[in-house]
Amino acid sequence: MERIHRLLPPAGKCPILAGNSPFYTPISITRCQSKPFTKPASKSAIELRFITNNRDRNLSSSTGPARAGWFLGLGEKKTIMDLPEIVKAGDPVLHEPAREVRPEEIGSDQVQKIIDDMVKVMRRAPGVGLAAPQIGIPLKIIVLEDTEEYIGYAPKEDIKAQDRRAFDLLVIINPNLQKKSNKSALFFEGCLSVDGYRAMVERFLNVEVTGLDRYGQAIKVSASGWQARILQHECDHLTGTLYVDKMIKRTFRTVENLQLPLANGCPKLGIR
Ligand SMILES: [Zn+2]
Repeated sequence: MERIHRLLPPAGKCPILAGNSPFYTPISITRCQSKPFTKPASKSAIELRFITNNRDRNLSSSTGPARAGWFLGLGEKKTIMDLPEIVKAGDPVLHEPAREVRPEEIGSDQVQKIIDDMVKVMRRAPGVGLAAPQIGIPLKIIVLEDTEEYIGYAPKEDIKAQDRRAFDLLVIINPNLQKKSNKSALFFEGCLSVDGYRAMVERFLNVEVTGLDRYGQAIKVSASGWQARILQHECDHLTGTLYVDKMIKRTFRTVENLQLPLANGCPKLGIR
């Protein structure tokens, strides 16, 4: 249940997008033939975890494992459950800007697989959002989703205060986020790449995100409340920013201490 409150999900690593990467080979645009996503995942499937091994991590990387960014499994025989693990804080891929996905890359098998993996990893966590760098891919792709089931685990007073409402799966490539008002809110948030901790972060209450969907079509998302927070958190990942870079430091705490009172001098939770 604790995981439900996280903004993001876990998984492994994937290949670096270096100049010699397959990603740099010009590719023709093809329409995605993928079937619509089905809801996860039996309980047992969600609980399964697979560890990325070092052999996988070194695939196609010419700069060595220290650089992070592997195309996990490209060209390898993988089972359906062989999903990437979530990259944790400290890996450079989480602290450096991601690059834009070129239009001609969107229809490629590689990018479509990355998106599929991201959705599966997010749901496996489970989490309500994930950015490609969190599975080791330095590309500007985010996925997010909040469900009645997840929300059902949260205290009612939190749901109301946070203006948290369910929304369907969103896949946004090359997102561009803009605030739509100066209103902001302070709430605790977490990150699957910073496992086991929470801190208060100030976020805009209303934002608009433009970008491309997984078929390369332009999309615009207007969001408020908790969905706006998720979007800001995920878009931050694409600039190499974690919530701990923006948090109110004196509110940082373990998940176990989440309910403890704020220290003297900390701002109050809620809308400002
Ligand atoms: Zn995160």
